[in-house]
Amino acid sequence: MSRPPASSAGVSRRMSRLARRDTRPELQIRSALHRRGLRFRLQEPIGFDRRRRIDIVFPREKVAIFVDGCFWHSCPEHATYPVANAEFWTEKLARNVARDEDTNVRLSEEGWEVIRVWEHEDPDTAAERIEQAVRGRRSGR
Ligand SMILES: [Zn+2]
Repeated sequence: MSRPPASSAGVSRRMSRLARRDTRPELQIRSALHRRGLRFRLQEPIGFDRRRRIDIVFPREKVAIFVDGCFWHSCPEHATYPVANAEFWTEKLARNVARDEDTNVRLSEEGWEVIRVWEHEDPDTAAERIEQAVRGRRSGR
């Protein structure tokens, strides 16, 4: 399905800001992880669906991090739905949520630990959570 034209400058700005990679929250989390001495890979395609990517990957420990935008992934605190083209957006965002859940389940079935971080979360708190998961895996938990 093609994207309808954004109906206002505000929506348009939000789309372009949130659709891109290397978003500010993601960069902050990556910096926080580096400060903790962690090394990782970025934007790895997922084996079962190469169109999906893991934002931050710890391949050896099999920990997969997704940094989810509040708009695109319908964060419970900040989810908003554009008024124009409401039906399109409701369906599209619902599909995103369903795909996220499917990704979580399938990665877990393959032995991955999946961590989802909202873009509104404090980067250091998120990095702490991620570090614990990675170190836990290393110690063979
Ligand atoms: Zn949020």
